Amino acid sequence: MSDRQQEKLVIIGSGPAAWTAAIYAARAQLDPLVYEGMGSRTMIPGGQLMFTTEVENYPGFPEGVTGMDMMASFKDQAVRFETRVVTEDITEVDFSQRPLRLVSSGGTEIDADTVIVASGANARWIGLHHEERLAQSGGGVSACAVCDGALPHFRDQVVAVVGGGDTAMEDAIYMAKFASEVIVIHRRDELRASKIMQDRAMADEKIRFQWNSVVTDVLGDDVITGLKLEDTVSGEESELEVGGLFVAIGHLPNTDFLGGQVALKPNGYIETPTSWRTSTSVPGVFAAGDVMDDFYRQAVTAAGTGCMAALEAERWLAHGGVEALEGEKVAVEGE
Ligand code: NAP
Repeated sequence: MSDRQQEKLVIIGSGPAAWTAAIYAARAQLDPLVYEGMGSRTMIPGGQLMFTTEVENYPGFPEGVTGMDMMASFKDQAVRFETRVVTEDITEVDFSQRPLRLVSSGGTEIDADTVIVASGANARWIGLHHEERLAQSGGGVSACAVCDGALPHFRDQVVAVVGGGDTAMEDAIYMAKFASEVIVIHRRDELRASKIMQDRAMADEKIRFQWNSVVTDVLGDDVITGLKLEDTVSGEESELEVGGLFVAIGHLPNTDFLGGQVALKPNGYIETPTSWRTSTSVPGVFAAGDVMDDFYRQAVTAAGTGCMAALEAERWLAHGGVEALEGEKVAVEGE
């Protein structure tokens, strides 16, 4: 008998996908163990919703709800059904054998019959040396306006927001409360953001748009003083004085700890080969939420896939694994 910790189901993550999977699994008496993560400069337990102000499009909250309150409620609901939670990362896995093997950042070795990967995604950076340096030193560069934007450093400053999606619009609107001016720098002349967010940003007198522009360097020694820009149409270079930079150019799925053992799509998201299923290339490993969803990326869809993953894990365990699932698929297809 191994002295490793034995588990039926380990869930990795702490966003809407992970907690929904935990709620379903706990109610199905799978006794799930959630590794909610330890947090870093760019991610904290609770996932990306912890960096969002008001969530207005999650059904059931007609007045809106803050991302933090929503994630606290999701977790409370999972814990109410006796979900066990560990505030550590899973740092290593070995999916080449049965049971599946995992190692936590605290050094715990776990054997699991099934695993749900709901580890979400992390902010993407432009990739400039001084961007990273000033972000790490707190020099006025950030990938999260909602976390850092209210700091005194940014008050009455001209700040730049890079990106053309909903996050960039949200960050610009948020920063307009504190800054003297917000300049949205976008590489095209058309936004990707939803119409409602575009309209809100464009209606704000403090927000202006710098179209067809990319940031090629971040200036400043201890704190940011400006940006070097390049026009994506003419190639012309220019400088812009700013006292802050918020990078809002999307996210990268958190899959490094899987060590290449679960098949990924070319863009880095976990592949779930069968449509309307969360099963991955590894039997008994399921994926839910932003780590597998490169299309919808919404809290409500993440919660939906978390539910799907828990139901699939439950059936997988109940019917003795992969053959049973294959049989079920054949039966459904033959209907
Ligand atoms: P996104 O929709 O993927 O937008 C990323 C933006 O960054 C795009 O405009 C993209 O430009 C730009 N970009 C990407 N790489 C770049 C680079 N290297 N240099 C310069 N620009 C770059 O990401 P998101 O805004 O984080 O949104 C993600 C999801 O969350 C979306 O589904 C969104 O609807 C949702 N969301 C919703 C809300 C809300 O409803 N309140 C708030 C935040 C996020 P291109 O357009 O040229 O590709």
